[in-house]
Order: sequence, then C-alpha cells, then structure tokens
Amino acid sequence: MKTNDARSTVVVVGAGLAGLAAARELADAGRRVTVMDEGRGPGGRTSRRVRGGFQYDHGAQYFTVRTPRFRTKVEAWRRSAVVAPWSPRLVAVDAEGTVPKTETRERYVGVPGMDAMAADLARDLDVRRGVRVERLKRTDAAWQLLGDGDVVLAEADTVLVAAPPDQAATLLADAPDLVAAARRAEMHPCWAVMLGFAGPAPVGWDGAFVNVGPLSWVARNSSKPGRVGGEAWILHAGPAWSRAHIDDDSGDVVACLHDALRQATPGIDWPEVADAGAHRWRFALPDPVLAEVCLVDQTLGLAAAGDWCGGPRIEGAYLSGLAAADRLLGRGHAVDPGDGDQEGKTS
Ligand SMILES: Cc1cc2nc3c(=O)[nH]c(=O)nc-3n(C[C@H](O)[C@H](O)[C@H](O)COP(=O)(O)OP(=O)(O)OC[C@H]3O[C@@H](n4cnc5c(N)ncnc54)[C@H](O)[C@@H]3O)c2cc1C
Repeated sequence: MKTNDARSTVVVVGAGLAGLAAARELADAGRRVTVMDEGRGPGGRTSRRVRGGFQYDHGAQYFTVRTPRFRTKVEAWRRSAVVAPWSPRLVAVDAEGTVPKTETRERYVGVPGMDAMAADLARDLDVRRGVRVERLKRTDAAWQLLGDGDVVLAEADTVLVAAPPDQAATLLADAPDLVAAARRAEMHPCWAVMLGFAGPAPVGWDGAFVNVGPLSWVARNSSKPGRVGGEAWILHAGPAWSRAHIDDDSGDVVACLHDALRQATPGIDWPEVADAGAHRWRFALPDPVLAEVCLVDQTLGLAAAGDWCGGPRIEGAYLSGLAAADRLLGRGHAVDPGDGDQEGKTS
C-alpha cells in the first residue's frame, strides 16, 4: 500500500467536516484526492436550507472552540469572513419557566450558513456529489469503490470513510477491527422543524435550551450574522422524542413541535406561520463516542473519521479528519479532541 508515496491516490467517502478536513490536508500534502458524497452539496450535518424567503440552518446550530489547532483554523476563517461570532441571548426553559443563561462561551456560525466552512474546505478539491458508495472491494492493486449494481465508481490506494458509524461499518467490512470499533459508537436521531414567521417573534431571546416536552433547542436563526430573509426559527426535538416519532409524517411533526413551542412559552403570542418544514436526522449526534480520535489500518489502507471518533460536534469532526490525514501521511497524530462535554442537547 503506497500510503507515503506522494503519487498515491485517496478516496474520501463523506463530504462533511471530517472528510473535507482530511481531504484538504491530504491534497495540500500532494496526494491525489477524490471526495464522494451521496448528498447534494458538501457539509453533511452542517447544512442550510433557503425556502419561501427564509433561511434555516436545520442541522448544526453553531460551534465552539476548545483546542489550539481548531482555533488556528477558526481565526483564519474569521479573517476571510467564512465564519463570524454569534452572541445569542440565551435562556433555559424548564417547568418553572424561562430563565436567562449567563455565560460567556464563544460561539461561531458559518456565513451565510453553517455549510460555509465545508464550502471553504471543498474549494479546488475534486468533490463528487450525489454519489453513494455501497461497498469497497479489494483487488490485487487497489481498492475499488462500488456503487449501485456494483458499478465501479473509482479505484484508490487508500480509502478514508468519513461517514456516520453505521454506514462506515458497512464500508469497512474488510477490516474487522475497524468495524468492531465503529459498532461501539451510537448515533441518536433528531427531528428539526423550520418555521418562518410572518413578523418578528415577541421574545427577548434568540436561543433556548428546553427541558420540558419534546423540544430540546429552539433558536431564532435570523439572529445569526449574515442571514437574509424573514424571521426564521429552528426547533429541535430531543433524542427520545425523535426516536419515538422517527417515522412520523413530517407535517405531523411540524404541528406537534409548533404546539410544543407554544406550550413551553406560555404568554408569548407567536406570529402567524408563513413557512414550515421538517427534516428527519436519523443520525444526528453520537453518544457514546470512541476514545480514538480516528481509526486507521495502515496495512490495508483503510481509515475512518467523524464526530463519533473526535467528539460530538463540529470541532470533533474537523479534528478527527485532520488526525486521520496525519496518520495516513505518516505524521503520527497529537490531536487533543477537547474536553468531551457537550453543551446543551444538540449544540
Ligand atoms: C440537528 C443537529 C444539531 C447539531 N448541533 C450542533 C451544534 O450546535 N454544534 C456542533 O458543534 N455540532 C452540532 N451538531 C453535530 C455536527 O453537525 C456534527 O458533529 C458534524 O457536522 C459531523 O461531521 P462529520 O463529517 O463527522 O459527519 P457528517 O456531517 O454526517 O458527514 C458525513 C457525510 O457522509 C456522507 N455519506 C454517508 N454515507 C455515505 C455513502 N455510503 N456514500 C457516500 N456518502 C456518504 C453523508 O452524505 C454526509 O455528507 C449537530 C448535528 C445535528 C444533526
């Protein structure tokens, strides 16, 4: 396996933050890199939707910075206006009512949407969208990446699987140790509802950690920097409710979570809804995550990365991708995945 050969080819499966961070690092080190993703654009769970005059970040909401390596990247992104600080007025909503949260944690968002970091990492890379990799097959000379009907999508010396652990385990079938590790991580679902209101919501806060009813997080998306359009809100259901309702009709979920918002905020006269939609995240947040920051089998030329290795957040995904690239480049890795805590329920 020519993992230290500057001509060696790498295919990265998954154009989320982990896959793109790795691809960028490998390409900068002279590897020939192709990224394949089944989705419509890069970003994975850092996604954005524009509809009906409203703009929504319906996946990741914001990110925090815990490690020097990620801070260096975030500062570069700030200088090039890829990200900006977001200072929401935050509250906690519980059975007793709504209580302001006073803390000074730095929060950042992509501009104009949470997919901005992925778009920046993907620039000048060979990213193939709408391509689902069904399985990997070892030949004498290389790995074949097979799509639907076993059509050969690509060949590579090395494959980095940067997909959630269920999908990763399928693709890593020839590496039983990596499969066993991936099976130790678990992903929890999240229903996200997007509500566009006909006018400003009469609430004195922009984000709420909700501890009553089905909701876990509510945010005024239009309070983030660089957003255009109308008064856009995001509602996230907690993992238990999302799991119990994962196959529900999206219209029913919109109605139920909109009602939950009104119940959690008695006395608030929410404006009329002008736009509504829902997104079902089957694999939203990992818990537990692995102790390893990435998984690499140098002999086979197979690796895996993602937030389920690096930590359940954007920073964890990014650092996991970098660690995998470091290992594949023979640099070893000394990445601190952060302190491991996850603020709030989804963010
Ligand atoms: C609702 C929600 C709220 C969140 N809130 C926050 C937050 O506020 N702050 C925070 O830091 N993090 C948050 N997160 C978590 C954050 O989004 C993730 O930790 C991070 O984006 C994961 O990146 P990743 O590259 O590991 O995986 P992903 O972004 O999931 O990327 C994996 C990619 O692999 C592709 N893929 C999978 N299988 C295949 C296949 N077989 N063939 C081709 N492509 C494939 C997928 O299409 C996807 O694009 C949230 C996530 C969700 C869903």
